[in-house]
Amino acid sequence: MIKVAKFGGSSCASAEQFKKVRDIVRADPDRRYVVVSAAGKRDDDDNKITDLLLLANAHIEYHVDSSALLSDIEARFEEIASELGLKFPVAKKFDEFASCIKSLSPEYVVSRGEWFTAQLMAEYLEMPFLDAADVMIFHHDGTVDMERTATAIRDAATRLGSFVLPGFYGTTVDGQIKLFQRGGGDISGAIVARCLDAGVYENWTDVSGFLAADPRIVDDPRTIHRITFDEMRELSYMGASVLQEEAIFPVREVGIPIQIKNTNAPDKRGTTIRETAEERTREHLITGIAGKRDFTVVHIQRAHMSNEIGFVRRALTIFERYGVSIEHIPTGVDSFSVVVHGADVRDTIYGIVNDLRQELKPDSINVVDDLALISVVGRNIGWRPGTAGRIFAAIGEEGVNIRMITQDSQEISIILGVANDDFEKAIRIIYERFVADEMVEMR
Ligand code: ASP
Repeated sequence: MIKVAKFGGSSCASAEQFKKVRDIVRADPDRRYVVVSAAGKRDDDDNKITDLLLLANAHIEYHVDSSALLSDIEARFEEIASELGLKFPVAKKFDEFASCIKSLSPEYVVSRGEWFTAQLMAEYLEMPFLDAADVMIFHHDGTVDMERTATAIRDAATRLGSFVLPGFYGTTVDGQIKLFQRGGGDISGAIVARCLDAGVYENWTDVSGFLAADPRIVDDPRTIHRITFDEMRELSYMGASVLQEEAIFPVREVGIPIQIKNTNAPDKRGTTIRETAEERTREHLITGIAGKRDFTVVHIQRAHMSNEIGFVRRALTIFERYGVSIEHIPTGVDSFSVVVHGADVRDTIYGIVNDLRQELKPDSINVVDDLALISVVGRNIGWRPGTAGRIFAAIGEEGVNIRMITQDSQEISIILGVANDDFEKAIRIIYERFVADEMVEMR
């Protein structure tokens, strides 16, 4: 089986981290294709090389001397190379780069973070270096030309047998370096996994996978070992994120699972993300809980609304007119609510309410601010009757008022609206009653 292993910035931040990467790669002969991010932070006060290179671009743009900054960047690579005894000529290559930096495109400049990191990693792992500029090909519109990329990556894999590829960049058809969005090394890794038809895409980072709840709210939440792509999207959308979201599409489409693993604790199981999860009867009910504060709900009521064709559409057109994106639209028989991000309507809410009044002539309009949304996600929620009721009852018993309820159409999540002030309490109740308790039962 082919395993594509992508190591994030923190996994490549220092010589010490490089050693961990080598141990991981050597532990499994299937790990022959490695993708790296630029060296990241060594600790909280440190800087990511990518951020320093972006800063260098800003210096150049504003004609500020960037030599001290460039020396700092070079020193990071020098340090790794000398501590590991590598032969790669960092000083020479860096001077070549720095001496013509003003004539280089900003994207090229930033891409050197992964380029240097991958050069060092390739030598250290004793694997060939494969430049992403030669194999990761972008169309003019900025999307990846999958056909050409797949051919190039497959050819390289056959020719080289293994490689270390710098993530985050590629090249346009006319030879210009092009970057993915921030965190895009994850996307590069996913594309390599897809092109090589890998059995798994391993994403090595500095956490042991997805947690079932935010550790700032719940003490020591459990790690989610298995999650489906849909569940992960629900949780990520609500703020729980480990992986660059765009990275799931290339592998998901062809059924390659993603495994999130911790470079600093490689023996931990981590999280496996796949299309479906089997053996559902023995599984837990709730996979994870995530949420966000500060939503606004506009509640619109009008008798016999449900018979009036186009009523909801007309209301939504008004939000569109004000450029507001809509999160949820829970509906009743004679009423519906429109849930939006509070910040999106801060300056326009009076205009929106006014237009709704004039154009829809509703019986009442009610605006509720400071609402938090909590998404309780679990692939088994839909087919286990009574789940929603049990969750609402548990929250109610603890005196938290539920202001809104909605369920996604695939029935893998239940979304609750509570006052901002009740946000953390509600999450703790759900975690303790439905996640922690279940763990006890399962032991
Ligand atoms: N180095 C890039 C960034 O910091 C890409 C990555 O880390 O995946 O955004």
